[in-house]
Amino acid sequence: MKKYKTCIHRLGDYNSNFICMKREDLIPFSFGGNKARKAKYFFDEIDRGNFDSVVTYGSGSSNHCRIISNMAKQRGLECYIISPKEAFEETFNQSMMNLFDAKIQVVSVNEVSDTIEKTLESLKNSGKKPYFIQGGGHGNLGTRAYVDCYEEIKEYEKENGITFDYIFFASGTGTTQAGLVCGKLINNDNRKIVGISIARKNPRGRDIVLSSIYEYFSEKNIEKDSSLIEESTIFVDDYVGNGYGNMNDDISKTIENMISNYGIPMDSTYTAKAYNGMEKYIEKNNISGKNILFIHTGGTPLFFDYLKNKNI
Ligand SMILES: *Cc1c(COP(=O)(O)O)cnc(C)c1O
Repeated sequence: MKKYKTCIHRLGDYNSNFICMKREDLIPFSFGGNKARKAKYFFDEIDRGNFDSVVTYGSGSSNHCRIISNMAKQRGLECYIISPKEAFEETFNQSMMNLFDAKIQVVSVNEVSDTIEKTLESLKNSGKKPYFIQGGGHGNLGTRAYVDCYEEIKEYEKENGITFDYIFFASGTGTTQAGLVCGKLINNDNRKIVGISIARKNPRGRDIVLSSIYEYFSEKNIEKDSSLIEESTIFVDDYVGNGYGNMNDDISKTIENMISNYGIPMDSTYTAKAYNGMEKYIEKNNISGKNILFIHTGGTPLFFDYLKNKNI
């Protein structure tokens, strides 16, 4: 499989640290982002199989659902999306899902899993062959996408004679984090991988990352000391505010500063929340003199929702 590769560039200094950014948002399909990187692995399986439809789930603002429906459309496959009504919003991602003819079923949040089962069953009963993708691209394939991303970071370090002491990014379902931590452990590296939670609180948020790591290692028959796995899994829940999508003035400032001074779009749900959280974490822990990598995980259409909602 041909993989996506994204650039890393210097951003500037913060608290006497050297900050670089890895631009997953520039993956060249459907506005990129970590969901695009993961989706490639799922569609690689789909392309090798005999599937005629795809079923997944996510909110109306989901980057994952946009990309899955775009990739399905590109291949002429039917795409079914189950969306919880509580998180249903009119967003640019939503408009694109409609443009790609995704068949969206909006149900209450506690009916999501039943509706998925029913949808899969009725497709199979009508002689179709659906491929199911977990929300957010969760699961071992999604984890693998970020083990490979970790290897890309290693390559960059080797070519440029730099070692990142810290890697920060927005952590949601935790697959991105699980993949990066697995990559670090496989390479026996000694750096800190810090997931800034955008919604989940501990211990649950971190436990989900841990279970993804164990699941991946067990599938690959990799043995790692569990205390080392525990110690390597840093899931920071200090900056979630009132949960998923909740934002504050500091996050707005980060969005406006990033686009004005660096020309980089960020969104309030994921990347700006995480970037702002990273800055606060750096200050709180007196981190200085380090090389720091922030992974921009995408979500560019949500940047435009931000502008629209602010009436700019
Ligand atoms: C989904 C998403 C995340 C979180 O990734 P996980 O692998 O679910 O933790 C971060 N940033 C953006 C822009 C996303 O769409």
